[in-house]
Amino acid sequence: MIIYKTPQQIEEYAQGAGVLSARVLREIGARVKPGVSTLELDQFAETFIRLHGGVPGFKGLYGFPGSICASVNEQIVHGIPSKNVILKEGDIISVDTGATVNGWVGDNAWTFPVGKVSPEKKHLLEITEKCLWAGIEAARPGNRLGDVGHAIQEVAEGAGYGVVREYVGHGVGRVMHEDPNVPNYGRKHTGIELKPGMIIAIEPMINIGTHRTKTMDDGWLVVTRDGKPSAHFEKTIAITEDGPRLLTCEPDFMRPVNK
Ligand code: MG
Repeated sequence: MIIYKTPQQIEEYAQGAGVLSARVLREIGARVKPGVSTLELDQFAETFIRLHGGVPGFKGLYGFPGSICASVNEQIVHGIPSKNVILKEGDIISVDTGATVNGWVGDNAWTFPVGKVSPEKKHLLEITEKCLWAGIEAARPGNRLGDVGHAIQEVAEGAGYGVVREYVGHGVGRVMHEDPNVPNYGRKHTGIELKPGMIIAIEPMINIGTHRTKTMDDGWLVVTRDGKPSAHFEKTIAITEDGPRLLTCEPDFMRPVNK
């Protein structure tokens, strides 16, 4: 069941969970460098979120131990932060995190380069971010979920990349995962109609090679089947009468994405 939010609830989300989730993600990005462990990033995230009046939304969710998911190189999503995972020059790391503020759950992700990365990885990051914005642009009242997925898939496959199928975006609200699912693939003019009041997380997960995935023995970590790198970018948005409104963003950027 899709839970529609009032304009006031969307505003509350934006001002609290939206801003803090974006802020902590940016601050984590500033701390991504060679020699840093993913556990250090996780501890920073938890402290930062709590200091600013939030609660880490990921910690304990379905039993996940961290405040961030930290997924390096061929790891797609759900990497558990560890003192044994030390970032190296040339890695890419997807950080997925969120803060819960006043009962609203924030969710966003970004893939950061560690120092200088190969042209191949740089291109993957550029295209995956482009996928995110293409999906957001398509998230307008009257469009359907298939239009969002199609927009993402077109950019990714146009570059020869694989679109992960098993993990998708989702509705967000008082809990992290609400209806509907928001796939990163689809056909135009199909699926659920987007209507004002929906809050959804759009999160393309794009692989250089095959779209196929594998879950590791810890039951969490998802990697590419062929071991090639993967990237992941996510923002939570609201569907408004005027178009998509970014919610997980900082105040200077808090405006609808209009052409
Ligand atoms: Mg999400």
